Amino acid sequence: MIKIFLLFISIFISINGFSQFENYFENRTLRLDYFHSGNYEHEYYRTDELIEKNTWAGSKINLIDTFNYGKFKIMVYDTLSGKLIYSRSYSSLFAEWRTTSEGKGSCGNFSETMLIPYPKKVVKVCFQSRDSLNKWHFVESQIIDPEKDFISKPLKNNIEVFPLHFAGKTEDKLDIAIIADGYSIEDIEKMKKDFEKFNTYLLNAIPFNENAAKINIWGVAAISEQSGITDPKESLIVKTAVNSSFNTINSDRYLMTLDNKSLHNALSNVAYDQIIIMCNTTKYGGGGIYNFYSTAAAGNSNTNFLIQHEFGHAFAGLGDEYYTSDVSVEDFYPLEVEPWEPNITTLVNFDEKWKDLLDKDAVIPTPPTDSKSNLIGVYEGAGYMSKGLYRPYPDCTMKSIKYNAYCPVCKRAVQRMIDFYSR
Ligand SMILES: [Zn+2]
Repeated sequence: MIKIFLLFISIFISINGFSQFENYFENRTLRLDYFHSGNYEHEYYRTDELIEKNTWAGSKINLIDTFNYGKFKIMVYDTLSGKLIYSRSYSSLFAEWRTTSEGKGSCGNFSETMLIPYPKKVVKVCFQSRDSLNKWHFVESQIIDPEKDFISKPLKNNIEVFPLHFAGKTEDKLDIAIIADGYSIEDIEKMKKDFEKFNTYLLNAIPFNENAAKINIWGVAAISEQSGITDPKESLIVKTAVNSSFNTINSDRYLMTLDNKSLHNALSNVAYDQIIIMCNTTKYGGGGIYNFYSTAAAGNSNTNFLIQHEFGHAFAGLGDEYYTSDVSVEDFYPLEVEPWEPNITTLVNFDEKWKDLLDKDAVIPTPPTDSKSNLIGVYEGAGYMSKGLYRPYPDCTMKSIKYNAYCPVCKRAVQRMIDFYSR
C-alpha cells in the first residue's frame, strides 16, 4: 500500500512539474550572453546577446535550484504573478579573478552565458551575487519580452555532434557535451580515440557507472586551425576552436578559456547540461568551475583523474580537498563563513554538511589518520588551507591525484546532482 501511495505521489509531482513547465516555457532554450564586469568590491551585468537554441536539455520538473551552491545566481520570475519559475546558481572565472591581487584593483570584463528555458511570456531575470558572508544580494535585473525583444534565431555551424553514450530523451537525462579543442584536421582519428577515452573514464568511475542509464554523453567534433594548446609560459600560441590556454589567472596548470562566445557558439548544435573541453595536450592541466565548464588535458598519464576531478567541481560544486598548491587565488575561504561547497567545512554551519554521514566513532576535529582509513570524519586541511578548513575523509579524488576515489561525501553530492537532472 505504501509503495502504491508513493508511486501516486511521484506521478502527481511529475504531472505537476510538467504542467509548470508547459505553463511558462516552450521546449526550447534561451541563451543569455552578458558581460560580467567589475572588481573585488563592485560588479555589473550587461546584456550582450539573446539567442534561441532548438531544444531544452534540462529537467522539465526540477526548475528551481535546490543546491544553493556557487557564487552567483540567476532567478527568472513570471512578471504577471511575480512567481519564481526558474533558478540556477553558478560560479565563473570572474569570481576567481576578482579575488586575485589584480582583481582587487583594476576592473575586469568577462563574457558569461546562462541557459534558461525559452519563456512564453514576459519574464524578469534577476542576477544575484554572494557577499563576503556568503549571503545572497541583488545585483541587476532585466525584463525579457519574447515577443518584442530581439532574439537571434538558432546559430548554425558545421561542427559534427554524435552520441558517445545514449540513454534517452535529453529532458530526462543528464546531458554532458564533450567538445574537442586543439585538434586540427590531421588529428581527427586521434580525436575520435580521445572521445572514447573520455567517455569510458567518465562512465567507469563511481558513482557514474551506477547511473549510466541516466546520462547521455555527446561528442562535439570541433576542428581547430592548428594542433595543440596555447601555453604562454612556453611562448606557445595555438589557434584553436575555443581558445583554451594554460596559465589562466597566472597559474601554470590552470587550463581554461576566456573565449566564452566561441565556446558557446561551437556548442550550437547540441543540447547539454554540462560542458567538458577535451584539450589536445600531453601537459598536465585542467580546470572546473561550478555550472560553467570543465577542461582536461587529453594526452596526460593522469587524464582519467583530471576528467573526474575537474568535472566534480563543474558538475557537483565540489571543493578542492588539498591544501598545498600554487593556486594564485588569495583569501578564497574566509574562516568565519561556511563555504558553499558540499565537501568542505569551516565548522561554522557543519549541520548542513555531512554530519549525518559521520562515523559514530569520529570526533570533531578528527585526528589525522592513515590515508587508507575509511572513517568519515572532519579532517583538518582542505581548500588550499592547512588550518581552519576541514574535509570529510583521509583521501579523495578531490584531494590526491587518484582516479575513481571520490570519498563518500563527494559521491553523495554527485549522486544528488545526477538525480536532479534525470529521472
Ligand atoms: Zn571528497
